[in-house]
Parts: sequence; structure tokens; C-alpha cells
Amino acid sequence: MKTIKDLISEGLTEVSATSDIIRERNVKRVYSEFPELKEIDSQILNVRNSRFIAVIDKDERLIRRFDIAEEELQTKRDRIIAVNKIDPEFDIAKPVCDKCNDTGFTEGADGTVKVCSCRRKELEMCYEISGMADYSSYRMKNYRDDYLGDPAGRKKIKNRFLKAMLGISDNADKTSLWLYSAAPQSGKTFLSIGICKTAINLGKSAYYVKCEDLPNLGTDTLEDLKRIDFLVIDDFADEVTLYNNVGSTLNNILEIRAASGLPTVLVSSFPKNVLVSKCDMRISGKLSSAGLINTKEGN
Ligand SMILES: [Zn+2]
Repeated sequence: MKTIKDLISEGLTEVSATSDIIRERNVKRVYSEFPELKEIDSQILNVRNSRFIAVIDKDERLIRRFDIAEEELQTKRDRIIAVNKIDPEFDIAKPVCDKCNDTGFTEGADGTVKVCSCRRKELEMCYEISGMADYSSYRMKNYRDDYLGDPAGRKKIKNRFLKAMLGISDNADKTSLWLYSAAPQSGKTFLSIGICKTAINLGKSAYYVKCEDLPNLGTDTLEDLKRIDFLVIDDFADEVTLYNNVGSTLNNILEIRAASGLPTVLVSSFPKNVLVSKCDMRISGKLSSAGLINTKEGN
């Protein structure tokens, strides 16, 4: 599974080619407008090449002569540039995006590093391959605390979910497994997708999957889920863990992720006690010590 960092670095060749093309275009334009500059640049190049040979010949006298010649040409060049108000860096390749200097990441005023707006395409592509192809319109910025009432509670849940993703734990035992349980139709999927996308936007590898779809994922993806930075498993229900090998697949993923302290959030419409008592035994063991993403203080 490709991460946002992979996709951005794959695009670097294209970006640097674009930067070269822009540079060549600038040089061509300036030279055609100021042919005397083109002439001097070509003379400088000749002097440098001749000096190179003189260096190999160890001809100190000749080297000195070429140094003086280049100095004189350079002075002439500077004058032409100054008099005609030509950009002195017209022949230097510049970054295509001056917001991120083509790194693909920008640092906000608060210090958080995010994917730059020039890499929108890569970001969308990453959301798609990270299990969120069917949710292109879901955006964290559209999540409203006051939707469906209880704005304070919704805000608290959002912040707890974000903390879980960032690996900030409120409780002392630093759990990496979280359960977000809330009533059906309360916007759980919207929030889950929003936070998963936020993780990717922050340069993390993340994946969103519905529990019942686990058996449909390829073995490579299942392997990746054990190691990615953040995983959200939606529509988690005790029933689902009892069929199609879901219990053992999930158990395997959770075990390896927990060993590395990688955050995983299970999202369910059922309360923790029901899930713990009814789901696959291996899962209920892990679930009983999972942290809760809820509106209550502490866990
Ligand atoms: Zn940029």
C-alpha cells in the first residue's frame, strides 16, 4: 500500500522536470531579448573550459589569465543585468511551488506539518487507496459539532478521536486500542473518515475499513494494516467477528499493532459490555482493556 509520502516522492521527478522546463523557458526568453547577455554567457563558458584544460596542464600563468578574463566578463554581465533590470536568477531552476519549495509538505503557524495544497491530487489518490474511495465528499472541515445537538459532547469525542490518532493518551496505561461506541445514525462514519483523512494529511499512513470487509482485503493489504500508523475499523459488531475468519484476522492485526503501540480505533453501534461478552474470545480479551472514545471524563 502506497503512503502519502511515497506518492509525493514519486511525483518529485515530475516536479523537478517542470522546474527545469520553466528555467529553460526563462533563459530562452531573456537571451532572445538581450542577445549580448547570451554572447557573454557563451564566452564565460569558453573561458571556463579553457581554464579547465590549463588546470590539467598545470599552466599557472594561463590559469591566472583565464581567471582575469572571467572576472572581466562577469563584471560586464552584471552590468547588463543591472541596467536592463533582468532577474539575476533568471538561469537558476526555482521551485514550482513556493509554498513548500516542492517538498510537498508545509509547516503551519502552529508547527504542524501538512501536505501542501500543490499535492491535492496525491492526497485524493491516497484517500482512495486507503479504503476511502467511496467517501470522496467526506471532509473533516465539514464535521459540525452542533449537528444533531450536544455540541460539547461531539467536540469532546472528536478531540478524543484525534488524540487517539496522534497517540496522545489520557490514561496512564497508554492503550493503543480504542473503542468508539455510539448510537446508529450519529455520524460515526463521517467522523471516522474525517480523522483518517486528517492522519494522511499529516503525512501518516492510515486505512479505513469496515469490519465485515476485512476478509475481502488482499493479503498484501492485510499485512500493511499491521504496520500502518493509524487504522480505523468501522461497523464493528460482535456478530461480524464470529464468521468468515474475521475473528482470527482481526486478532492477528490487533496483536501486532498493539505490540508496536500503533493506534487502532474500533467503531461500533454497540456498547462495550455487549461487545466484550459476545464477540470472538480473542477479540473480547483485547477489547476489555481498550480505551473509550466518549464524552465521559477519564476512561
Ligand atoms: Zn507545494
